[in-house]
Amino acid sequence: MARRKLVAGNWKMHGLAADLAEVVAVSNAARTAGCDVALCLPATLIERAVRAAPGFPIGGQDVHQADKGAHTGCVSAAMLLDAGASLTIVGHSERREAQGETDANVKAKAEAALLAGLDVILCIGESDAVREAGAAVPTVLAQLDASLPASVADPSRFSVAYEPIWAIGTGKVPSVGDIGEMHSALRGRLKAAYGEAGDAIRILYGGSVKASNAAEIFAVEDVDGALVGGASLNATDFLPIIQAAR
Ligand code: PEP
Repeated sequence: MARRKLVAGNWKMHGLAADLAEVVAVSNAARTAGCDVALCLPATLIERAVRAAPGFPIGGQDVHQADKGAHTGCVSAAMLLDAGASLTIVGHSERREAQGETDANVKAKAEAALLAGLDVILCIGESDAVREAGAAVPTVLAQLDASLPASVADPSRFSVAYEPIWAIGTGKVPSVGDIGEMHSALRGRLKAAYGEAGDAIRILYGGSVKASNAAEIFAVEDVDGALVGGASLNATDFLPIIQAAR
């Protein structure tokens, strides 16, 4: 099935008002990109970015599963929507590791976000030790099974990002063969979970994607785009990756 590619940036804990010019530059280029483009920003920048780049998809980097309540420091899906966001990342490995988020937490977050009307990018990926032990595929499939929302009404609003932890921010990237093997296994599992809709769900690759390797990665079967960290922080680095997704 032909799926329109999605290139999403994850700014992590980077970005001040001065950086909104980068959002505007990316949003201008996105109009003629021929693929979907989005930027997931720190919560503090979301509303200003939406005002600076009207119509361009701005996302959060995490969401709480509850509508509201005593959850200091967290944001709900309603709050992200209220700020103008249209999507959110859930289950990034930096949150799974540093905040102790479990697959069950991630599943609840994904379900709450979809129900509220946010698009979702759900992250999964193996550690270096798991890859070295030859257990990457079964480990990531188990993580997927336990993190997936119970149902996905509109597959265009839900993406899975395969992000090997050892490739994030390190400059290391799996071979195209290893990426293809993982994405093909994930596709099979999504079809098993959701039937035909599983064929329409986009599977992004994430981990040290750059202008120099993007085209090669995007050419791999079942790679439907990328989640990009460091190289999404400025338009100069990010735009060539968007162009490679054409
Ligand atoms: C990420 O954090 O999701 C990511 C892929 O980071 P980087 O592109 O910097 O490896």
